[in-house]
Amino acid sequence: MNEITQINSKGVAYPIKLNEEELKNRVDPLSFDVLRKAATEAAFTGEYTDSETIGVYKCKACAAELFRSDTKFHSGCGWPSFYEPTKEDAVELIEDRSLFPRVRTEVRCAACGSHLGHVFKGEGYAVPTDERWCINSVALILEPKK
Ligand SMILES: [Zn+2]
Repeated sequence: MNEITQINSKGVAYPIKLNEEELKNRVDPLSFDVLRKAATEAAFTGEYTDSETIGVYKCKACAAELFRSDTKFHSGCGWPSFYEPTKEDAVELIEDRSLFPRVRTEVRCAACGSHLGHVFKGEGYAVPTDERWCINSVALILEPKK
C-alpha cells in the first residue's frame, strides 16, 4: 500500500489537515485503519454495499462531498460501487503497486488525503463511464436527502 501522508501526490499539503488523534477517537478502529492506513473492509460487510438511499456520500474523516447516490450501482463486488465521483477534483488518484504485478489505482479524498478505495476501468459494467469506483463503506458517511 501507499503510505498515507499529509502531502498530496503533487507535493502540496492537503487543504484539510487531519488531527489523527481526534480522528482516532471519533471513528471506529476499522474506519481509522481504512482511512489512514489504506486497509480494506471485508467484502459484503459494509453498511452501504447495497444501499439505495438517495443522498450524498461524504468523507468520514473530513466530510467533503465525494459521491452521489445517483451514480451508485450494484456491481456485485461486495463494496459500494459508483461510476463517477461527484466532481473530478473531489478525489485524488494514485498508482498502487501493492499487489504487483497487478497495478491498481488508489482513490483518496482530495481534501484530506484519506484512503477511500480503488477505481477499475473497462470491466464492462453497463454504466456511462465503464468505471467501477470501489469504495469502502467505512470511509463514507451517507447524508440522506431530506
Ligand atoms: Zn476527506
